[in-house]
Amino acid sequence: MNDTVDPAYPVTKRNKVVRRYQRGFYDKKTVHEILDAAMVAHIAYVMDGQPFCTPTGFWREGEHLYWHGSSASRMIRFQSPGVPVCVTVTHLDAIVLARSGFHHSVNYRSVMAYGTARLVEGEAEKLRAMDGFVDRFFPGRSALLRPPSAQEIKATSFVVMEIEQASAKIRDTHVGDEEEDYALPIWAARYPVRQVVGEMEECPRQHPDATMPEGMRGYRTGRTLDDVLLEAARQYED
Ligand SMILES: Cc1cc2nc3c(=O)[nH]c(=O)nc-3n(C[C@H](O)[C@H](O)[C@H](O)COP(=O)(O)OP(=O)(O)OC[C@H]3O[C@@H](n4cnc5c(N)ncnc54)[C@H](O)[C@@H]3O)c2cc1C
Repeated sequence: MNDTVDPAYPVTKRNKVVRRYQRGFYDKKTVHEILDAAMVAHIAYVMDGQPFCTPTGFWREGEHLYWHGSSASRMIRFQSPGVPVCVTVTHLDAIVLARSGFHHSVNYRSVMAYGTARLVEGEAEKLRAMDGFVDRFFPGRSALLRPPSAQEIKATSFVVMEIEQASAKIRDTHVGDEEEDYALPIWAARYPVRQVVGEMEECPRQHPDATMPEGMRGYRTGRTLDDVLLEAARQYED
């Protein structure tokens, strides 16, 4: 996961942020942080002329994004031979209430990543991906689990996409009204929005000898999911 080799993605017409270009970023650090702070992505692809955009769990390993599904999944089967996709991640950070409808907005961090999706082939690579799926969110957890059965391995498929190009876009500002509108007696504000970890609920059928593994300690009540996932991603990289 060496970001120092080439610190930014190549920019072409495909990924160049045109609207509000000053909110656009192409450096790998920014793009990776937005990706790594998310558990869910939307995978866009065109099948028989029809666009689909499928939400799913995903994770990053270096320059590769992975997602998985049932071997019978239409999306997985379609992407297996190698098809162009766009993977999008969005974080909603604030709701911005201005003095006019025109300037109502939201703060956000988002990424659009482009590449060619293909099936992960070969048992060894597939098993590695299976562990990656678990360890990305809960570092070291795969080693603590019952190994997958032959049937489970057969029933699960993984797709990988090398990031060819990507763009990040970030809005991180306060209310931005027309200068004359600040004189109006209209209430304006910004509400930060955070996704936080809730109270843990143990499995009602917990084995009496089962103890919470160290890797789960990051999932503390009230902590933002961003923080938990970024910490997990850093441990995963090491
Ligand atoms: C939560 C959220 C809410 C938004 N709400 C609005 C809204 O209400 N109205 C509105 O006009 N826009 C909104 N945006 C911004 C929107 O995503 C687009 O950037 C914007 O509409 C311009 O689209 P475009 O196709 O003209 O972009 P262009 O600048 O022409 O896009 C060119 C390229 O820039 C990159 N790019 C564009 N947008 C993004 C992005 N968001 N993230 C990463 N890369 C990007 C892509 O690679 C794209 O191919 C919102 C974004 C987010 C994340």
